[in-house]
Amino acid sequence: GQRNYSFMLRTKNPCGKVSNQLYLTMDDLADQFGIGTLRLTTRQTFQLHGVLKKDMKTVMSTIIKNMGSTLGACGDLNRNVLAPAAPLTRKDYVFAQQTAEDIAALLTPQSGFYYDVWVDGEQVMSAESAEVVKARNDNSHGTNFPDSPEPIYGAQFLPRKFKVAVTVPTDNSVDILTNDIGIVVVSDDQGEPQGFNIYVGGGMGRTHRLATTFARLGEPLGYVPKEDILYAVKAIVVTQRENGRRDDRKYSRMKYLISSWGIEKFRSVAEQYYGKKFEPFRELPKWEFNSYLGWHEQGDGNLFCGIHVDNGRVGGKKKKTLREIIKNYNLNVRLTPNQNIILCDIQNAWKHPITAALAEAGFLMEGSPLTFSIQVFIRVMIAFYQPSHVDPLNLTAMACPAFPLCPLAITEAERGIPDILKRVRAVFEKVGLENNESIVVRVTGCPNGCARPYMAELGLVGDGPNSYQIWLGGKPNQTSIARSFMDKLKLQDLEKVLEPLFYHWKSGRQSEESFGDFTNRMGFEKLKGLVDKWE
Ligand code: SF4
Repeated sequence: GQRNYSFMLRTKNPCGKVSNQLYLTMDDLADQFGIGTLRLTTRQTFQLHGVLKKDMKTVMSTIIKNMGSTLGACGDLNRNVLAPAAPLTRKDYVFAQQTAEDIAALLTPQSGFYYDVWVDGEQVMSAESAEVVKARNDNSHGTNFPDSPEPIYGAQFLPRKFKVAVTVPTDNSVDILTNDIGIVVVSDDQGEPQGFNIYVGGGMGRTHRLATTFARLGEPLGYVPKEDILYAVKAIVVTQRENGRRDDRKYSRMKYLISSWGIEKFRSVAEQYYGKKFEPFRELPKWEFNSYLGWHEQGDGNLFCGIHVDNGRVGGKKKKTLREIIKNYNLNVRLTPNQNIILCDIQNAWKHPITAALAEAGFLMEGSPLTFSIQVFIRVMIAFYQPSHVDPLNLTAMACPAFPLCPLAITEAERGIPDILKRVRAVFEKVGLENNESIVVRVTGCPNGCARPYMAELGLVGDGPNSYQIWLGGKPNQTSIARSFMDKLKLQDLEKVLEPLFYHWKSGRQSEESFGDFTNRMGFEKLKGLVDKWE
């Protein structure tokens, strides 16, 4: 008979927005057609693993009919557009999220074949704003393919996948500098959004033992007034479409184009498509990492609650409890770029029962064998006073799916990281670091870097069976790129490297110095010497 291939399917949810209806649909589909768990991704989407070919049409049409989409979640075009997941009603947050949705719409493929295939041509998507349609069809500077059903992408689409994130000043919950385009809302003194700063040329993917491939941070391109943002984005995309390398996929991301041209030349070419000059980049305050875990005010009288999901995988009792809460209270949710979930629009009166249900499902702390009622009571108390009673290492850690789900994986990531974090904590204890100390740990099964390991303070990148490259030097707020510290470290030898590093950080750090800043200040040669000498 015919082989029944199994597929991975990703949804598209700009700014991680997921309606109540779509969440419940995805939860059902995971049970009926997937492997029984939901996987949240680092791009604020769902991934369903293990969907059989014969079920694809049912699954896709179910998602589309429930106001979801998978269009543009894979392939050489714009991927899911990131924005802060927090449902804050502050003007700049709302504007950042609206802009993310507009950019997602602008860069959505226009061909009808997608819907023809999956829902027999039924028109199910909501209408786009007039501004988006106008910007997409505007050809005043030669940006469009006039006779193509794809005015922006043409027949060839882009040389490679393309990533965009939008945020507000200080909020780096989106890893802004790792995107092809990073956009920051700039507001006036009254908090009224006026325009955007734009970074270009970030990207994570690289190839082992090929120094001409590299992870790269976005750099400032300039500022545009708010009404011009879609035109500016289109000009940048078209610059990459026309000039990005198509002869070798290893070098086809926009970061290589910018790196070889330099930002000045890139800016002047993009300005020709934009039809204007980019204004000078506005000064921005320092970036911070926001996890949004725990309880927060939305600003409209309601609350939201950020829930930590280990490696973004929701299964078992936790999946069942989340479903019940989301269904019973009719909540909308948001997915964060750190693979966590935010429950939105919660009334004050629901805080208590929701906290209790979450604690009971084990979201906030692991249970001890006490009697049921005392156990629940303690969990609730802890949940109230210490909303995230998990090891702080877990809160910022990320791993990609890797084995057994990703065909590119060289070694373990998601399945290996719980143990790796425990070992990191054990070494912390051994060298006398307090249990509230933390570092950003990220693990991937190959150099493609889906969990953005090159921004971590300790990045493990699979380079052989049970073996990893060690990357050091990222910052807690994700603003500097890590560098490769060593190759081919066998997992069983992890402590031999971590112990000397953490010992010297503990004894030699300057006041509150983060591990990432410490490793950069010391220099890798010096640190290597300390590791070699360690007994
Ligand atoms: Fe797969 Fe590599 Fe991405 Fe991990 S980093 S999910 S192994 S492609």
